[in-house]
Amino acid sequence: MMHEHTPGAPILFLRNVTKRFGGLVAVNDVSFDVREHEVMGIIGPNGSGKSTTMNMISGALKATSGSIELQGHDLTRAKIFENARFGVGRTFQLVRILPQLSVVENVIAGGVFGHKRRWGREAEDFAESLLDRVGLSHAIGKGVDSLTYIDQKRVELARALAGQPEVLLLDEWLAGLNPSELRVGIDLIASLRAEGRTVILVEHVMDAIRSLCDRCVVINSGAKIAEGTPQEALSDPEVIRAYLGDA
Ligand code: ADP
Ligand code: MG
Repeated sequence: MMHEHTPGAPILFLRNVTKRFGGLVAVNDVSFDVREHEVMGIIGPNGSGKSTTMNMISGALKATSGSIELQGHDLTRAKIFENARFGVGRTFQLVRILPQLSVVENVIAGGVFGHKRRWGREAEDFAESLLDRVGLSHAIGKGVDSLTYIDQKRVELARALAGQPEVLLLDEWLAGLNPSELRVGIDLIASLRAEGRTVILVEHVMDAIRSLCDRCVVINSGAKIAEGTPQEALSDPEVIRAYLGDA
């Protein structure tokens, strides 16, 4: 059941999360909470550790130290498929669609391996309703090779939704869209927000951050340098320095 968009109690907790790749500290002692029904942004210059943070929440990468907890489940120690079961759904910065499967099969796969699992006819009906939800009803019977880039992104979004995640991770889901597609994409994420979904959004498009996020954290060189409403965070002198320094 979906709720209206009113952030509730925290459900996801990152505590002192660090990720090292050899000598590189990609994420350095980062802590923040995400509330139920909240859209939380993660922003920062290229290479600052945003995707690494998302990958640790999804379980694709293991934290070197620190903890990540979702509704009482310890995501830091879980296996990747368990993170999905516990309620993490995601899209990838670089689209990852299963090319040998049809559009609807790609989405069904998300339901089979997701938080609330479905099989057979029920999974198929749910997948079709989600394809309709993301604006892809015309592609239900098609193969994935015929899809445009934005439509591939829609398939990924529908696949993530098919598992009915407690928290949805969107890593630069809007990247690579042209201006009119961007408008459609922002509206689509806004509609997920209005449904009361809990979302973590990594995004370079500042209009999207401003219009979609309740709060955001800013990371630079792996460390959190600011947290607050988009307006608060983006007017922080250290954040402005980080962005100007990057440019
Ligand atoms: P962002 O998403 O903010 O652009 P990333 O989290 O992808 O940044 O990367 C943060 C840092 O970690 C970068 O210096 C990147 O080169 C490095 N990095 C990311 N993934 C790996 C990996 N698998 N192995 C080694 N270094 C990595
Ligand atoms: Mg990234």
